[in-house]
Amino acid sequence: MSRRTALVTGGAGFLGSHLVDRLLAEGMAVVVVDDFSTGRRENLAHLAGNPDFELVEADVVRTLPEVAADEIWNLACPASPPRYQADPVQTLMTSVLGVHRCLERARRTGARLFHASTSEVYGDPELHPQPETYRGAVNPIGPRACYDEGKRAAETLLFDYARTYRTDIRVARIFNTYGPRMDPEDGRVVSNFVVRALAGAPLELYGGGAQTRSFCYVDDLIEGVVRLMRSPTPPPCPVNLGNPGEFTVKALAEMVLAMTGSRSALVEKPMPADDPRLRRPDITLARTVLGWAPQIALADGLRRTIDHFAAVAERA
Ligand code: NAD
Repeated sequence: MSRRTALVTGGAGFLGSHLVDRLLAEGMAVVVVDDFSTGRRENLAHLAGNPDFELVEADVVRTLPEVAADEIWNLACPASPPRYQADPVQTLMTSVLGVHRCLERARRTGARLFHASTSEVYGDPELHPQPETYRGAVNPIGPRACYDEGKRAAETLLFDYARTYRTDIRVARIFNTYGPRMDPEDGRVVSNFVVRALAGAPLELYGGGAQTRSFCYVDDLIEGVVRLMRSPTPPPCPVNLGNPGEFTVKALAEMVLAMTGSRSALVEKPMPADDPRLRRPDITLARTVLGWAPQIALADGLRRTIDHFAAVAERA
């Protein structure tokens, strides 16, 4: 039997590169498609020369290279607000046209399709924590809409293909995930705080940092998405994957300061538009259908992340 092959869009990004490592470790051949708009070559540098690994530079809005894949993993999309707002039209098109190309490929070839959706489909939620049945409160014309509504439209396409063509889809609504290989410059809260604390620069708290977030360590998340992709039957709806531990952003900042021994100041900044005040996954469905729950506590994951960024700073 020939080797099973995975096509991974967005494989040069933070989550994608960890997923690629996992799939290669399982013995699959992996083809990454990435336009390097937010992904980084260094995330895949360790795979140079690996005969099971191939990298194709392409924009999924325009093309999806012909690859005989058993599994398609669609992760292409900028994920940090400053990056996805930098070119909002491209962000929306990446979500909608990117997933459409993947769906057409899956329909034509019978490949199974994983899609990285997001907790942002819940917007600024009136229900807390958020179960998958919650329909969300999203501003369709605000500055975050290119991402939130793009992901919502992608979910619509995915479930229409599943109903109409019986395409085998697996959709994860991913909540805030952190860990090594995050882009230190892309403004996501964990990497931003860790890098600034290590450099002695001030940590900025929007609106005083009272908003809550749940932080999932990347290894836990990858285990969840792999279980979802490999489960014998597709769940009938998207599945929340995230860590239900809930922390204010200010508490996170204080933890990072304590763990790095940093004397960085905490400074208050105004709240950005449409920033969600509360965010915490209800993971009952993932526990039930995938037997999955995060194993790595925030303090452990932060320690690994701080060690990673400290090593990167030392090499620079
Ligand atoms: P990332 O920005 O590090 O990775 C995204 C990757 O997609 C990058 O390598 C980028 O170059 C690539 N990409 C973007 N547009 C593309 C295009 N048009 N064509 C080809 N490649 C393109 O982000 P990430 O954190 O790794 O997120 C991966 C996926 O998971 C995204 O779809 C994101 O929406 C989703 N997600 C992530 C989180 C999180 O906390 N990390 C939370 C929810 C959802």
